[in-house]
Amino acid sequence: MQAPEFLLSATWVLPIAPHNVVLPDHGIAVHDGRIIELAATNELLARHPDCVHTHLQDQILMPGLVNAHGHAAMSLMRGIGAGLALQEWLNDAIWPFEAKNMDAQAVALGTELSIAEMLMSGTTTFADMYFFPETVARVAHQTGMRCQIAAPIIDFATLWSRDADDAVHKTMALYDEYRHHPLINVAFGPHSPYTVNHKHLNQIAMYADELDAAVQIHLHETRREVTHANEQLGHGYVHLLRDTGLLGPRLQAVHMTQLTDTELQMVAAAKTSVVHCPTSNMQLASGTCPVAELQAQDVTVALGTDGAASNNTQDLFAELRLAALLAKHTQADPTQGQASDVLKMATINGARALGLDRDIGSLEVGKSADIIAINTQQPGMAPVHDPFASLVHNNSGSAVTTVMVAGTTLVADGRLNKINTDELCRKARRWQLQLS
Ligand SMILES: [Zn+2]
Repeated sequence: MQAPEFLLSATWVLPIAPHNVVLPDHGIAVHDGRIIELAATNELLARHPDCVHTHLQDQILMPGLVNAHGHAAMSLMRGIGAGLALQEWLNDAIWPFEAKNMDAQAVALGTELSIAEMLMSGTTTFADMYFFPETVARVAHQTGMRCQIAAPIIDFATLWSRDADDAVHKTMALYDEYRHHPLINVAFGPHSPYTVNHKHLNQIAMYADELDAAVQIHLHETRREVTHANEQLGHGYVHLLRDTGLLGPRLQAVHMTQLTDTELQMVAAAKTSVVHCPTSNMQLASGTCPVAELQAQDVTVALGTDGAASNNTQDLFAELRLAALLAKHTQADPTQGQASDVLKMATINGARALGLDRDIGSLEVGKSADIIAINTQQPGMAPVHDPFASLVHNNSGSAVTTVMVAGTTLVADGRLNKINTDELCRKARRWQLQLS
């Protein structure tokens, strides 16, 4: 066995797999960005007495969170369209603002702002769907964060693409460019079945199969969308996606607040993953994803913040708390939304949905050292009786001290190593002030 480069231990380790386990006074040994041992701290120290060792006293060590759906650059649009329903929010506020203001430069700035927020609050992998995906990829590469970039495909002209044809070609080129990147995965991002025509949905299914690439789509987000589908097609869009060949294991269906029993069975049979975005669904009053029913059918349900314009934060710990409370509330059952179950959604399930579970999502030997640590010694957290409950219900995003992606430290003592946050916030303010 190779000698570890460093040891990292903590008062509590939550490996996530196996499920619902707390390992007291444990740690990991890391070599070449991967976990090569997970054991009791004293055993690790006995085996490697000369290795560099950091102990995180009163901290919880766990895998980094996976934010399975968002539009990072929309951090620049927090609060725009607030108070509108989805269709008016898109048609009257978001799309006109984007067409006027969200050029490649703005996308770079907004993406970096979200990456800073996500890293500081414990997310190590994010799934993005936004214009200028090559800019998002470049910023992600510079910051060292892991991501899936679903290039946005939409029928109408945007600042990035002329039409769906153009967007598909640009997606393929970007896929080729990042094919061998260790942290960046390019996917297809058809915006929704009502903004991408049948022919292109079909084409995307074919190309995604050929390339073994993932596809992420907004699906059955609101009752209005599904009513419209029924009027036009005589059935919901889940049927349409099956007919176009998109409904399958590589598909990540975002939102899914409206599902008939038949559609739920179709999704389960196709092994399609679902991304639950509770804040966005509540903010836009879109409906509620039937998480318990999907999980009962073994559907992988991951968690996403959605863009900051419909959230407004990118702190996935805040999303975890809401997911737990919403599950209890909608089912009128306090045993729903258990902390260990929702944490699974934001870690290993997110990794599964993105097809990355061989590499990330849990602390296991052989996996990448994508890890975070949370300091429990503060007024809002101490003392800790149940580390899972503390993580989910105690504002943990603000207590993150350490973040590593593939063994590289990106946050130390709560501060970003590669991003100057003061300068970044100044730039965002300057950008806002020049808007006409
Ligand atoms: Zn979205």
